[in-house]
Amino acid sequence: MSGRDGFPRRVAMLSVHTSPLHQPGTGDAGGMNVYVVELARRLAARGIEVEIFTRAASADLPPSVVLAPGVLVRHVAAGPYESLAKENLLAQLRVFAHAVTRTRSGQRPGPYDLIHSHYWLSGHVGRLTAARWGVPLVHAMHTMAKVKNAHLAHGDTPEPAARVRGETRVVRAADRLIANTAEEADDLVLHYAADPARVAVVHPGVDLDRFSPGAGRAAARARLGLPRDALIPLFVGRVQPLKAPDVLLRAVALLLERRPGLRERIVVPVVGGPSGSGLAEPEGLQKLAARLGISDVVLFRPPVRQERLADWYRAASVLVMPSHSESFGLVAVEAQACGTPVVASRVGGLPVAVRDGVSGMLVRGHDPQDYARALEAFADDPERSARMGGAAVRHAGNFGWETAAAATAEVYAAALPRTHRRKALDASAGVCLG
Ligand code: UDP
Repeated sequence: MSGRDGFPRRVAMLSVHTSPLHQPGTGDAGGMNVYVVELARRLAARGIEVEIFTRAASADLPPSVVLAPGVLVRHVAAGPYESLAKENLLAQLRVFAHAVTRTRSGQRPGPYDLIHSHYWLSGHVGRLTAARWGVPLVHAMHTMAKVKNAHLAHGDTPEPAARVRGETRVVRAADRLIANTAEEADDLVLHYAADPARVAVVHPGVDLDRFSPGAGRAAARARLGLPRDALIPLFVGRVQPLKAPDVLLRAVALLLERRPGLRERIVVPVVGGPSGSGLAEPEGLQKLAARLGISDVVLFRPPVRQERLADWYRAASVLVMPSHSESFGLVAVEAQACGTPVVASRVGGLPVAVRDGVSGMLVRGHDPQDYARALEAFADDPERSARMGGAAVRHAGNFGWETAAAATAEVYAAALPRTHRRKALDASAGVCLG
């Protein structure tokens, strides 16, 4: 059943609550969507076919869409179309799992050699489907309720106990768990009692062709209509309390209090759309900017495609990521790949994504004063951005998707032998779905 050299031939990838076809940077679409698309494309290029199952969020979607050679997206009908919030998906997961198992082609096990699920809701479907097909389950958490709840921002709603229970069951069922960083691997062991032998660390990647310094900062500023000599601290990502764009705005206000002369030459773009609720939504942020007296320097922009996003990164003096929690932080690596240093909070994957003092600066906590000081360092020393930017490009070079896909394929290969044990167990226990 497995392909060449013990690698799977066909993988069923599960991304239940958000589609790889959605625009990242708003709502439920973010780094995980990018991760699934980029990983699937690179696995396909290595000869591993991938079919991605996602919930049909509208009635007019075709049953399947070819995303790239060797990568198919399958739309699964489960629950009402547009109006189903992520929080209410749990009740639809068995329906989703049944629909996935129906794609099998008569022979046992199903047409796939392995299941790779993303986020706990997909993990739940993966658990049911893997037991049904007798194939291994590889799971990536992306975010964990226990970790998120330990780092809640003001205005954030805690993750419910049902999610923690669900995550725990998925961790127990998975043959292999893929963690973004060693810290995430430790969290899996510490908070979810994962077996360390089944946890593999694979750093996510960045598309180094799409995200590169290109023709440089001045050209990008000209294309975006931004002033040539301004200090440009940039925020990119979903506008939600967890990402703390409000901390950036407060830091800018403090900086301008200390250095009023900067007002004429600072622009603060916020690129991304609303996600969830709370003060950090664009409307809330706009009100905050007005209250802080900095509306004239903040530019709110809706999410853009990555090709365009690369120009925003190139144009910026520094990317600012004051997140309360971040399982990795793809935008930090993307900005560095474009030659832009990063000021980020010292949380989650960011200490891996950013080389403190070399490709950017890590800040402990979320005190706007600390971020204002970091921005001041860039204002005082205009060469700092270019200097750190060179190191940033080199650091980002460590995170190609090809490397991530090769490491993931190894995890798959390591998971495959368990299939035979699982099949034998399932046969004797008469495990069935539903
Ligand atoms: N993104 C995008 N357009 C935007 C804003 C963001 O394509 O306007 C993408 C960005 O390139 C990155 C992803 O959304 O790959 C966000 O990933 P990250 O890990 O930083 O955050 P997450 O959303 O997973 O919390």
